[in-house]
Amino acid sequence: DGRLRAVRDRVRSFPDFPQPGVLFRDISPLLKDPVAFRTLIDLLEDHVRASFPKIDFVVGLDSRGFLIGTPLAQRLGIGFVPVRKKGKLPGATESISYSLEYGRAELEIQSDAVEAGQKVLIVDDLLATGGTMRAACELLKRLKAEVLGCLVIIELKALKGSEKLNSIPFYSLLQYD
Ligand code: 5GP
Repeated sequence: DGRLRAVRDRVRSFPDFPQPGVLFRDISPLLKDPVAFRTLIDLLEDHVRASFPKIDFVVGLDSRGFLIGTPLAQRLGIGFVPVRKKGKLPGATESISYSLEYGRAELEIQSDAVEAGQKVLIVDDLLATGGTMRAACELLKRLKAEVLGCLVIIELKALKGSEKLNSIPFYSLLQYD
């Protein structure tokens, strides 16, 4: 698919970032090119419309998930809900602590962000170990939302992160080893 290639051509790789041994996939060129970025959102929209007939909200993960999640939600004609890193959201929040490769991190969502039974799709730029996405799924479940699926641009296959998501449908546009 030429559209997929146009997107893939605008992902750069940086060895040893943010630490030695990590090959960082950088989506900045994709954001910088309006035609490629539109194509990216077109492809994600096509997938979501074909797979999920009814979604209430797109949930995006801090911070690159916001860049993908907000235009996608607009295309779908639905609202966007942010999941943020600790300490950024006002009012009552639910939070979850999870382990990273080095240390721990915490994600938060506003307690009134979704109502029990509402259907959500969680989006981020990239799935590595799957720890961040799994924590986000857990947060949404605490609010009694129904997580219909998880969606990313890039999946780092070798890390087997999708196995952490158990039975939740997972989709990635591009896969890297
Ligand atoms: P995980 O929790 O799956 O190990 O890591 C995924 C999270 O870390 C995502 O929120 C993603 O933005 C960030 N991340 C980890 N590695 C990369 C990478 O190589 N490129 C980009 N763009 N983000 C990464």
